[in-house]
Amino acid sequence: MDLRTLDVGEHEEVVGCRDPSTGLVSIIAIHSTRLGPSLGGTRFYPYTSEVEALIDVLRLSKAMTYKSAAAGLDFGGGKAVIVGDPRADKTDDLIRMYGRFVDTCDGRYITTEDVGTTVADMDLIRTVTKHVTGTAAGSGDPSEATGWGVFSAMRTVAKRLWGAETLRGRHVAIQGVGKVGSYIAGHLAEDGARLTVADIFEEAALRIATKHGADVVPTQEIHTVDCDILSPCALSGEINAQTVPEMRCEAVVGCANNQLASADMAEEIAKRGIVYGPDFIVNAGGVINIAYEVGRPYDRKAAFAHAWRIGDTLERVIDVAAAQGITTEAAAEHIAEERLGA
Ligand code: NAD
Repeated sequence: MDLRTLDVGEHEEVVGCRDPSTGLVSIIAIHSTRLGPSLGGTRFYPYTSEVEALIDVLRLSKAMTYKSAAAGLDFGGGKAVIVGDPRADKTDDLIRMYGRFVDTCDGRYITTEDVGTTVADMDLIRTVTKHVTGTAAGSGDPSEATGWGVFSAMRTVAKRLWGAETLRGRHVAIQGVGKVGSYIAGHLAEDGARLTVADIFEEAALRIATKHGADVVPTQEIHTVDCDILSPCALSGEINAQTVPEMRCEAVVGCANNQLASADMAEEIAKRGIVYGPDFIVNAGGVINIAYEVGRPYDRKAAFAHAWRIGDTLERVIDVAAAQGITTEAAAEHIAEERLGA
């Protein structure tokens, strides 16, 4: 295992690993341990270059610092990437080697699953290091908790925008009904909301149509649906210069990471009078869930109760934004920075 430390500005520690015997090429970025050990998933992705992988891991690890801080967790922000196609390049030996790489951080970085990695991978990593969460014997797949937190945030929007306790009679358009999107759809249907969904995987959308009576629209149209809440649950960058003028919703609340294509989109969406629930506030249920597994037996009840408080955090974000005349994104960053600076 060839390890090297990379010199990168505001991050506390960034380490790269290259192991020719297994083909592992990986980077772990620890942005901050100010509030506790850094926690964040392992993304296994076919980056076109190591520079692209480095840029991604630096950005993602910083976002984890803000996500955990705003969620009131005593964890810092970290993230890891493995360069490669998980379908073609993932082997048990490679994953075990990656686990040894995680172990070299001595607990300053704790990993979990992300795009391209699974609970089974975490189980394998667990055989070589204890600094892993989201194993089958622990909290498992975080999607359900993430969906629960998003639903709580939507309830807050219902309360603040329409003075309603539930989403009964409201129309929600969900872009992407994969793991998290499906859970959100279930909660909304139970709450009496009307659903419109879109997914590039047509079967996923049809499943929600059959189960909850949702309407299905083409993926390129979902952001234009005349609805109360638009919920991006698939891609990054859905809030962009092309989509914002075409949106016909009162709020955007979804689980996708990095929804704003660029920083100025926070202003653009606010100018249209659309309330944006900042992604790193709204989708923190997953990290909250795994935090209830670190160093103790997993406590599902406490984890889900904490994820539900995402609604309260969003309420505070909306209040701060209104009081200071700033965007909800800026307000969310202030709340996280306040805790980091305390
Ligand atoms: P997933 O892969 O299970 O679901 C994503 C769904 O979006 C899939 O069904 C896919 O077919 C669909 N999709 C892809 N491109 C699309 C497009 N252009 N239009 C419509 N649908 C499209 O992933 P997931 O775990 O549900 O996560 C969804 C998003 O939430 C991701 O951005 C992820 O990073 C983020 N997120 C997930 C969690 C979690 O706990 N799983 C936590 C925080 C953030």
